[in-house]
Amino acid sequence: MKILVTGGTGYIGSHTVVRLIENKYDVVMLDNLSNSKKDVVDKIDVVIVDNLSNSKEDVVDKIQTITKVKPIFYKADLLDKDAVSKIVKKEKPDAVIHFAGLKAVGESVEQPLRYYHNNITGTVNLLEVMAENGIKDFVFSSSATVYGNPKSVPINENFPLSTTNPYGATKLMIENILRDLYNSDTSMNIAILRYFNPVGAHKSGLIGENPNGIPNNLVPYMMQVAAGKLDYLRVFGDDYKTKDGTGVRDYIHVEDLAEGHLLALKKLKEKPGIVTYNLGTGVGYSVLEMVKEFSSVLGRDLPYKIIARRPGDIDACYADTALAKKEIGFEAKRGLHDMFKDGWNFQKNS
Ligand code: NAD
Ligand code: UDP
Repeated sequence: MKILVTGGTGYIGSHTVVRLIENKYDVVMLDNLSNSKKDVVDKIDVVIVDNLSNSKEDVVDKIQTITKVKPIFYKADLLDKDAVSKIVKKEKPDAVIHFAGLKAVGESVEQPLRYYHNNITGTVNLLEVMAENGIKDFVFSSSATVYGNPKSVPINENFPLSTTNPYGATKLMIENILRDLYNSDTSMNIAILRYFNPVGAHKSGLIGENPNGIPNNLVPYMMQVAAGKLDYLRVFGDDYKTKDGTGVRDYIHVEDLAEGHLLALKKLKEKPGIVTYNLGTGVGYSVLEMVKEFSSVLGRDLPYKIIARRPGDIDACYADTALAKKEIGFEAKRGLHDMFKDGWNFQKNS
C-alpha cells in the first residue's frame, strides 16, 4: 500500500508518517455480496509532498532515524497542479492524507486571499489530480474550529457548523467540497477528521512543533517561556464561564492524533463511504491547569500573568469522542503529563 501525504514534513504530518511506516494492520475488505476477506497490509510506503513553507527538509532524515526507513520526498506546491500530477502519475498512490495548508488564525485575518488560495485551490488541485488518476481514498485534516462558538460542551459531530475567521472558513469550505464530491461520486472514500488541540512531540525528541516567531498557541508559548526565550505566559482572561475562569480546551497528544489517521484509513478500506470524526480526548483543561501540570513536569513554577481576553476566544471547547471510539476504536492514550514531558523533551533538543 502506498500513501501520499501532503504536508508530511509538518508537525502533525511527520508524526503520522512515522506511525504509517511503523505500522502493519489487518484490513477486512467487504465486497458488495457481503463476503469478507481478510487482507493484511504489512507495509505502507509513504510519499511526502510539501512545499516546505512551514517545515524543513531535515524532517525527512529525522523520520528515517526514528523508523529506519526514508520516505520518498518531493518538494512541490499543491498550487502547481502539473507538478502534483507528475508525482501522482509516477508514484501511483492508493490513498491520500491531506495535511498541507496554512493554519495561523491571526495571519488568515490579515491575508485572507493567501489563505483561500493556498488552502482551497491547493485542495481542489489535489482532488482533481486524484480524480484523473482514479484515486478514491482521502483523509482530510479539519479542525474543531468548524464548530465556531459551540452552544454547549462536549461537542459532537452533529453540532451546527460556523466559522469566525478565514482559516476556519477554508476548513469548512473544504469539508463542504468533500461532501459535494462524495454526493457526485459515491465510490469516493472520505474521512474528515476534526482535530481538537494537538500538542506534544514524538517520544524520541526528534520531531515536534517548532513555530516561527512568537507562538500564538498556548503550549508552544509555554515551551518558550520555560526555555527562557519569553519572560512569562500571558493568560488571556480569567473571567470565562469555566471552572477557574480561564479558557478550557481539549489537548490531544500528537502521537495519539497520528494513530487516528491510521484507524480512519483502515475504516475506509473496510467500510467505504464518507465519515466525519472528532479527534480529541473528551477532557477539557483550563489554562491554569495547564500551567500547573507543566510546572510539575519542569520541577519549577512557570511564570504567568493574567491579562485581558484575546478577541474571538471562546469559553470552552472539548470533544464528544463517542463516535470515533465506536466506529474506529479511537481512544487517546496519553495524558497531559506525557504531552508536556514529550513536548519539553523536543523543545530542549531544538
Ligand atoms: P504545519 O504547518 O506544521 O504543516 C503543514 C505543512 O503543509 C507544512 O509543512 C507546510 O510547509 C505545508 N504546506 C502548506 N501549504 C502547502 C502547499 N500549498 N503545498 C505543499 N505544502 C504545503 O501544520 P500542522 O499543525 O501539522 O497542521 C496540519 C494540518 O492540520 C493543517 O491542515 C492544519 O490546518 C490542520 N490542523 C492543525 C491544527 C493544529 O493546531 N496544529 C488543529 C486543527 C487542524
Ligand atoms: N491562551 C493563553 N495565552 C496564550 C495563548 C493561548 O492564555 O499565549 C489561551 C487561549 O485564550 C485559550 C487556550 O489558551 O483559552 C488555548 O489557546 P490556543 O491558541 O492554543 O488554541 P485555540 O484557542 O485555538 O483552541
